Amino acid sequence: MITINSTTKLTGVFGYPVEHSLSPAMHNAAFSHLKLNYLYLPFLVHPDNLEEAVRSIVALGMEGVNITIPHKQTVIPYLDEISQEAELIEAVNTIKRVDDRLVGYNTDGKGFISSLEEELGVIPKGKSILIVGAGGVARAVAIQSALEGASKVAIANRTEEKAKNLARYIEDNIKGCSTEALSISELKDAILNADILINATPVGMISYPVKRLIETEWLNEDLIVCDLVYNPRQTQLLREAKEKGARTLEGLGMLIFQGSLAFKIWTGREAPLSIMRQTLEKRLGISQLSADQRGV
Ligand code: NAP
Repeated sequence: MITINSTTKLTGVFGYPVEHSLSPAMHNAAFSHLKLNYLYLPFLVHPDNLEEAVRSIVALGMEGVNITIPHKQTVIPYLDEISQEAELIEAVNTIKRVDDRLVGYNTDGKGFISSLEEELGVIPKGKSILIVGAGGVARAVAIQSALEGASKVAIANRTEEKAKNLARYIEDNIKGCSTEALSISELKDAILNADILINATPVGMISYPVKRLIETEWLNEDLIVCDLVYNPRQTQLLREAKEKGARTLEGLGMLIFQGSLAFKIWTGREAPLSIMRQTLEKRLGISQLSADQRGV
């Protein structure tokens, strides 16, 4: 149990909406487990109020916050400094207050890389990575993979123009990583040349109407298949990839590791990963059940 007193340090998440966020439960469980006198709250911040909300981090002496949709890009002008990866990704998901200065970080891409490394023992260096999707999460994962030495990052997206823009951006800004932009219809052949396949679209997510982008017969046992969707934990893609003998990685790991990196930025302490995982599993178990009961 967290006991709030006159020395409690405040963190939280700014988003709009924010009610869906699993971060308050995950971080408060971690603070409580380590007996750290910190508290994590959700803040519903309308886009019109973002600047004022960010200024309040200094005014109220908060330790820092997470930033979620739709503020990850628009928050940047209000910060004093941003990390190299946040600058390249052009998005911030974590802010730390240092005296009266605000420093922005992006732990999304690094969270995925840590999950890959810690859970499968795989590093991106020298790998050919194929990412499906070119939205916010795909961008963070693609750029971080290129920064970590992937030999190739290929991006396949429904709107091909967005894949082209992201591929060009990586080519122009990160040395030593070749890129390719593809349409979804080119996925079958692209998978044959990939070491790691990552779904960074909502396809497969609970209550999302589309369940499939990738046919089972396109998968093979030499692939590592990652789904960034974490609800359900075992997506159709992951189930089918396993059946084909591929190694698989759930999106839950990325969620935990991006949180653990933010936790370390604020507290200087290693996060209790197993407590964070248990908390999320419990929450997702509950949300899965309630979604099933609603028939979605
Ligand atoms: P986003 O910025 O809205 O991007 C969504 C991407 O998915 C776009 O590239 C979009 O293509 C594509 N897409 C959407 N519906 C599609 C469909 N029916 N067929 C083909 N492509 C489709 O979203 P995001 O923030 O990147 O998040 C993407 C997913 O990542 C989320 O839904 C969530 O499940 C997962 N996620 C995981 C974590 C984690 O920690 N594991 C964190 C955040 C998000 P267009 O460009 O053509 O629209």
